[in-house]
Amino acid sequence: MDNITPNDMTAIVEADRAHVWHHLLPHKPLETNDPRIIVEGKGMRVWDQKGKEHIDGVSGGVWTVNVGYGRVEIADAVRDQLVKMNYFAQSAGSIPGSRFAEKLISKMPGLSRVYYANSGSEANEKAFKMVRQISARQHGGKKHKILFRHRDYHGTTIACLSAGGQEHRNMQYGPFTPGFVSVPHCLEYRAHEQGLAGDDYGVAIANEIEKVILREGPDTIGALCLEPITAGGGVIVPPKGYWERVQEIVEKYDILLHIDEVVCGVGRTGTWFGYQHYGVKPDFVTMAKGVASGYAAISCCVTSEKVFDMFKDDHADPLGYFRDISTFGGCTAGPAAALANMKIIEDEGLLENTIQMGEYMLDQLWALSEKHEVIGEARGKGLFLGAELVKDRKTKEPADEKMVQAVVADCMAQGTIIGATNRSVPGYNNTLCFSPALIATKDDLDQIVASVDEALGRVF
Ligand code: PLP
Repeated sequence: MDNITPNDMTAIVEADRAHVWHHLLPHKPLETNDPRIIVEGKGMRVWDQKGKEHIDGVSGGVWTVNVGYGRVEIADAVRDQLVKMNYFAQSAGSIPGSRFAEKLISKMPGLSRVYYANSGSEANEKAFKMVRQISARQHGGKKHKILFRHRDYHGTTIACLSAGGQEHRNMQYGPFTPGFVSVPHCLEYRAHEQGLAGDDYGVAIANEIEKVILREGPDTIGALCLEPITAGGGVIVPPKGYWERVQEIVEKYDILLHIDEVVCGVGRTGTWFGYQHYGVKPDFVTMAKGVASGYAAISCCVTSEKVFDMFKDDHADPLGYFRDISTFGGCTAGPAAALANMKIIEDEGLLENTIQMGEYMLDQLWALSEKHEVIGEARGKGLFLGAELVKDRKTKEPADEKMVQAVVADCMAQGTIIGATNRSVPGYNNTLCFSPALIATKDDLDQIVASVDEALGRVF
């Protein structure tokens, strides 16, 4: 903030109020309240226009800044690359594009090709288009349907919303793209609502996917698209046995498996990718947010050689190759930042830290539940955690969304940024979300949990 005077800042706030259309915000309150401008960040903390310090419990609001703020080594890598070569269409290669692809693939046994794009939504669209083209070329267009799961989210475009299992995000944006079919969520805490509670819930709820496949006709299903752990739909860690059964099902019906790692990817859960906890073998893995920790816009749709091979006779047929482009998939800032980001995770042992700190924070959230009846369940993996709030532990009736938002606002007033599943699934916007940077220490996590403790005490 050094070279910005108070007058400059007033002008910046007014310009924001007058001209910026913020994401996800109702704007009426901003006519009387100042919009929040984040001015500076360092490590786990950010400062707003008033100089107020916040500890960031959600890595840039939406689980993105995995290695924390103020990483000079990433900024340097991007700067060096940009002055040398900033952009050329991705029909040609680039030095950081090749290097990052090689590095990424070294962390993803069984996969081999990286398709560059800019956002999570876009990476998912690439996979959807590949599935559709494979269906057109190999199955006469019949095997074109894509299964998605209730409570999962895959992005903001119309096709991604068509694959979106969060009704609140979809309302008023239809009609949607045909050919996307929903399967049930796998939140064990709410298994009773699905009539499936029991020790074998993981297998039973995966079997529901098979029922949908049989109902639709296996020869019509091209792919199954799932988050490894559902993020904005409530931090849903799949139950025991789930992924193993899913793998069997996709193999049995020759269905391509698309795993959306936009949130879980690049260390968030303590492994490079969330699916690696479960030993599954995806055909597509899409990723975005943590790939470059928000230092540059980059996303990737990574595929197996089997998928790539399906486009191999492309020279013989004018419609044979993947006729797709993302202009900014050729920006070199993305892979340059992503390489430096990955190096930090390796050099600083951040996967190990994520596992240790994640276990610590999960314990702290359960400890908090002993004091606050409103916490029905704490759950998560690595530094990807949630606390579901309920009115009554026996009935598990979800806490009121406004009260959940009041907890988030109270934390914000204390200088602690946390998230919640607002505007995702009607009636179930009741989970507090935490995704601190992978550099978090016990002290950082204690500070976040202490704020939640105070907020819960005040709100409930
Ligand atoms: N997939 C998941 C699991 C997400 O959580 C998101 C965004 O939150 C997306 C895809 C879309 O990513 P983007 O906002 O970069 O398009």
